[in-house]
Amino acid sequence: VSRGPFAFWTGMQLWKQIFIALVVGLVIGVLLNQTGNADIAKSVKPLGDLFIRGIKMLIVPLIFVSLVTGVASLQNLSTMGRLSVKTVALYLGTTAVAISIGLGLAVVFEPGVGVDLGSAQAVTAKEAPNLVDILLGIVPTNPVEALVSGNVLQIIVFAIFFGVAITMAGDAAKPVRAFFESAAEVIYKLTSVVISFAPYGVFALMVWVAGTYGMDVLAPLAKVIGMVYLGCAVHAVLVYGGLIRLMARLNPVRYFQGCIEPVMVAFTSTSSSGTLPVTMMAAERNLGVPRSVSSFVLPLGATVNMDGTALYQGVCAVFIAQAYGVDLSSGQYLTIVLTATLASVGTAGVPGAGLIMLSLVLASVGLPLEGIAIIAGIDRVLDMARTALNVAGDCAVSCLVARSEGQLDQAVYDTAHVLRADD
Ligand code: ASP
Repeated sequence: VSRGPFAFWTGMQLWKQIFIALVVGLVIGVLLNQTGNADIAKSVKPLGDLFIRGIKMLIVPLIFVSLVTGVASLQNLSTMGRLSVKTVALYLGTTAVAISIGLGLAVVFEPGVGVDLGSAQAVTAKEAPNLVDILLGIVPTNPVEALVSGNVLQIIVFAIFFGVAITMAGDAAKPVRAFFESAAEVIYKLTSVVISFAPYGVFALMVWVAGTYGMDVLAPLAKVIGMVYLGCAVHAVLVYGGLIRLMARLNPVRYFQGCIEPVMVAFTSTSSSGTLPVTMMAAERNLGVPRSVSSFVLPLGATVNMDGTALYQGVCAVFIAQAYGVDLSSGQYLTIVLTATLASVGTAGVPGAGLIMLSLVLASVGLPLEGIAIIAGIDRVLDMARTALNVAGDCAVSCLVARSEGQLDQAVYDTAHVLRADD
């Protein structure tokens, strides 16, 4: 228990600290912007970047050691197969629903009607990825290279093989197992230390965004921004809340409380990969998801599950069609659902990646790629909402999968044990 003049702050739950930092950062940023002091807002960004670098530093070791120990602790291999099938099905299913929500909102509220296309410039489409290459590419030819370059899918695949081999090797693998279990504890400890700096990082990033994006940039596209934010909120409440309630038979309010820290970090950092260590911590400590599930479901989700990105691509595709006066047929809507699902899977969990992949969706239905230039000016603000939803989705699926395996620790889930700054 902390004492001293700052006890009220240091003893506070982490999510409250982050929330206060976010709101105060927003207010200060807006004030700086309104008083023509955007430069000051820009100058605090390095503090935010420092925090992001700190969490990014943990991603590779954290995924590797926690997944190796997680897989090695599974009773048998068929569990792994079952986990994978459930996870992939939930990821893809929720993503398709997300795009449909995005499309629906944009069709009803018509954000693109009457938009000024003045800023449009030429853009070239991104090549559609080749499925065979993607599948082959997830098996690393050199696992050390995968670790060095931070290729998450390759690291996942190697860690699974390695963990399985530990189990197969039995007694002979005892020292290796013990080493990884111990290393996992060390990395988790380090993670909680870095996460305790989240409020300061979030504050700095929020001041920067709010200070640099003025109303003059945001106002003309307010409808698109509104659609994306509304869509994300609707998806979170109806789809995640609904699945948690109906499929897992758990209290959805606890789910939202439990994933609040990673959601806020995702919102300000706009990187689901960068948020991953916070997500893994929260899933385990707040939501009671065991490491054997979270260490597989969450890194995979941070790489391939992007409901927010998919929803945003749905909204933007319809927005651009409306802005250019193009009527989309029902076949084209279906094409958008399919390509946006694939494009969101192919989107890296880094800032702005979804915008690049949007060209793929537009190209699939022949919409003008120049539309991307209109979105680009406000993309950071859209990225915040979609990344927050991406991470919330990963948390939801980890709960659903853990619950369906009978492995969710309901006592932890129910007791609202929220991360503390001094955890
Ligand atoms: N920034 C998003 C994420 O990290 C990806 C995107 O740009 O849509 O999840």
